Amino acid sequence: MTDCIFCKIAAGEIPSNKVYEDDRILCFHDLDPQAPVHVLIIPKKHIESIDVVTEDDKELLGYIMIKVQEIAAKLGLENGYRLVNNCGEDGLQTVQHLHFHLLGKRKMTWPPG
Ligand code: AMP
Ligand code: ZN
Repeated sequence: MTDCIFCKIAAGEIPSNKVYEDDRILCFHDLDPQAPVHVLIIPKKHIESIDVVTEDDKELLGYIMIKVQEIAAKLGLENGYRLVNNCGEDGLQTVQHLHFHLLGKRKMTWPPG
């Protein structure tokens, strides 16, 4: 999608601090970290949010979930972490390209704000 910042990051048109990349997904450090480790995991395919995924995305979503443990290990999150998806207005989604926040290296609080 031409006007999407994460599509531009995925295409290498906007720089990012990459942690992991393959043909289907990209993981990079969040610009405004909310924990000592805060990265975003995105599909390279433009999907607006978790609310619009379809059966066609099943394999890709499963792939992302399976990659989390590898990325977490690479970032040294052996003590645990939080995986977050913000969806829509009430979920405070600010970038309309599906992404999962992976946060770690501090004790999280519950419930989230
Ligand atoms: P959300 O509010 O769940 O949509 O999360 C969007 C996240 O993207 C926020 O945590 C932002 O700090 C982050 N973000 C926005 N632009 C960039 C960028 N160019 N590089 C890295 N992270 C970004
Ligand atoms: Zn996009």
